[in-house]
Amino acid sequence: MSILRETRDSIQGFTYEDMKKTGRQKLPNSVPLELYRAIRLIGMYQALPLKGKSTTAAIGRKIGDSLPVQSVDELLDFFRELQIGDPRIVLEEERKLHIAVEDCFCKGLPELEESLVCDLEGAIMEGALSRIFNKAVHVKEIKCNVNGDECCEYEVRL
Ligand SMILES: [Zn+2]
Repeated sequence: MSILRETRDSIQGFTYEDMKKTGRQKLPNSVPLELYRAIRLIGMYQALPLKGKSTTAAIGRKIGDSLPVQSVDELLDFFRELQIGDPRIVLEEERKLHIAVEDCFCKGLPELEESLVCDLEGAIMEGALSRIFNKAVHVKEIKCNVNGDECCEYEVRL
């Protein structure tokens, strides 16, 4: 009997491509939005100290860095493909971009005053853009549906 299962040493860990590999038989390859929200908002935002700020920054950057995208457009397409939200550039200056996200995963949640909850998704952009431009990129969340804004929006400083 041959060993068909691919193995990899534990130090090297997983790649983003590995995330698509599944051996599930009966259940689909997607999980409901409420599970993503529960991990993000109940698990990270509410359970971690300081609303998870340093943790989401570290997690997001690592994920962003691992994504198979090579340009800003590819990154925005990827956000749509993963159904995180529907992003578009709403302001473009030499060293600054504003990216608004329609239909963000947080859309429709009850409003919480002075709460910007989509920091992880911004950190994912930060990780991907830092790699694409090969320099430090800073992404800050400036609007959020949950905060009562008309959409979620990020300021990207290059
Ligand atoms: Zn959002």
